[in-house]
This record gives sequence, structure tokens and C-alpha cells, in this order.
Amino acid sequence: MLKPRSAKDFPVSSFSVDLGSGYVMCGVCERRCLLKEGEKGYCGNRVNVDGKIRVIGYGILSAIESRPIEIKPLFHFWPNSTALTFSNWGCNFHCPWCQNYHLSFQTPDIKWGKTYSPEKIVKMALRNGDEGLCASFNEPTTQLEYLIDVFKLAKKKGLYNTIVSNGYMTFNALEALYEAGLDGLNFDIKGCYETYNKFIGALDPMIVFRNAKRALDLGIHVEIVYLMVTKANDWDECLRWVLKRHVDILGESVPLHINRYYPAWKYYEPPTDVNKLIAAYNIAKEEYNIEYVYVGNIGDWRYETTYCPKCGKPLIIRAGYRVLEYHVTNDNKCPYCNAKINIVGKFIRNKMTILPF
Ligand code: SF4
Repeated sequence: MLKPRSAKDFPVSSFSVDLGSGYVMCGVCERRCLLKEGEKGYCGNRVNVDGKIRVIGYGILSAIESRPIEIKPLFHFWPNSTALTFSNWGCNFHCPWCQNYHLSFQTPDIKWGKTYSPEKIVKMALRNGDEGLCASFNEPTTQLEYLIDVFKLAKKKGLYNTIVSNGYMTFNALEALYEAGLDGLNFDIKGCYETYNKFIGALDPMIVFRNAKRALDLGIHVEIVYLMVTKANDWDECLRWVLKRHVDILGESVPLHINRYYPAWKYYEPPTDVNKLIAAYNIAKEEYNIEYVYVGNIGDWRYETTYCPKCGKPLIIRAGYRVLEYHVTNDNKCPYCNAKINIVGKFIRNKMTILPF
């Protein structure tokens, strides 16, 4: 007969510092929760038991499905491939417009929740014919130790590893992911200081740029998402604050996805004005010279298409997050003017995935 598990049945985190007097600090994200005996971290995935932090969300997953890499969105990484995508429970941010609130604001069921071993995840991806893995939907670093175990194994089996994250991890956590075999990531910048102060809880957006830069320096592929949310980050000054850091810190060739927001959870402002999104696209391209800019969630293929930054010809035509035409040479150059195009990995031909509704 199955017995309910307790926190002691879960692994001890190696990303913590014992501060004495019963306090332990979690070193996974820059919230750096200070936990006294029996206390749980903000994300609900870590608890102080007998002076040690136990990873109580380890391997307890909330979703697993194969998805096109374009939907992350990662447009410049293994185009047209699929990634076995998985998520856990809980998050270190509580954005009021969260689309995945049903799993981000829950805590793992440590007593009975089903645990997926790293071996099982890797086996599922291989059986499914996926080219890689993606930890997504909620903040994946809340189960950092699990990701490390999964990614190491996936690497050995020839799969790529990616995450979709709010980018708020510590350097130690990011470097540990890199060492485990992280190949690509997408960081979601929530806006300027005002957005973070008012909606996310006085956190620092510069940490996201700091980490994105560190990832680039390590050789990890980076793309940035800016979900433009009505009255939270959709005004000109806020947009320009983000664009300037993008160019100054990350450079012009890092892709930027400006996505449309729709009301969710407890944020009821109307969906982002499409004119504002198009204006932001033009500003990013023309005034800040960002080479690969996209507008997502508006269903217009022209804004999902990759254009050559030198000659302007359409190179990768996408619609509905699927690749329809691919005109980049095998050595990642524009076939018309020979300009180098920022692509990592191989284009996967003849792969069609039916998206879940
Ligand atoms: S990972 Fe969770 S417990 Fe650790 S610092 Fe971040 S919010 Fe706190």
C-alpha cells in the first residue's frame, strides 16, 4: 500500500546557505528567501526541514506535452523542431495577468503527487521523436535540481535543452544549468522599473538583463519576450527603457518578441491595442536597430516572419508559430546577400505537429 510522502522524502538543495540560528537562505533565485524551521519559500517548492532546504517540488509535474519550438517562442533555435515541454507547480513571480495561473499559483502535492524521473522524461522525448526538451509554463528554476538531473541525461542522449523563464535566477543557478547542458533560453522581461514595482513586487528588471548577458557570454542561445500589457508596460517611455537595455546590454542580433496580452487571472484591462504593438515593432527595428523583431498573438504572418537584417528579404516565413518557408543556407546565411543570420541548430524539414486546442 502506498504511503503519503513527507518533505524529508525529497532531495536536499545544494543551492542554500546556512545562516545559523535556524535560518537558511535559498540561493536559487534573487528573492533569496530566508527560511526558518518549517517555512516554505515564496515559490512553494522549497522548505526548511531540520536546517536543510528540501526541494519538495522535485519531479512533480503539472503538464507534459510535445510542442513546436516556435511556440515558446524561440524562432532562431532549431527551427521547426519539437521540444517535449514540461512544467511543475508554483512560481517565484505572481504576475496578475498570468496565463498559467492554474499551475503557477499552486503548490506541489508532496504527499501523493506523481513524480516523473529524469529517465522517464528523456525516454518520452526520444519515443516521441522530439529533438529536445523545454521547461516552461511556470518558472522552471523553482525546480532547479530536477532540471539539472534531466538536462544532464538529455545531453547524453543527444537532445537539446531549453527553458522559458522570467530570468530572475542567481548566477549560481544559471551557471549550474549551463553546466548541466542548457542550450537555449527565452527570458520574459516584464517591463520597466514601474512595472516591476507596481505589479511584480519591487523586484529589479536589471537582473533579467544581467542574466541574459551572462547566458550569451556562456554561449547559450537567448531570445527575449516583452508581453505588452495594457496599462502595465505599454507606454512609450517604458518600452524605450526596455529597448535601450536590450541593445546596450544584449546587442542588436538578440531576437525580441513583442507579444499581445489578453486578460487573465485577476487583470481585466482590455487586450493590448494592436496599433501600439505595431508601433513598438517599428520603433524597435528602425530606432533601436534590433535585427529580429516579432509581434506575437495577433495572427499576422508578416510580424512572425524573419527578414534579412541586411537586404530585408523574407527568409523564414511563419504563420501561427509554424514555419511555412525556410530560405536560410545550411551555413546560416541569407541566400540573397550572404549576410550571417542568427540561427542555432538545424532546420528540421518535413515535421508537422498538430497543436493542441
Ligand atoms: S527559488 Fe523559491 S524559495 Fe528559492 S529564493 Fe526563489 S522564491 Fe524563494
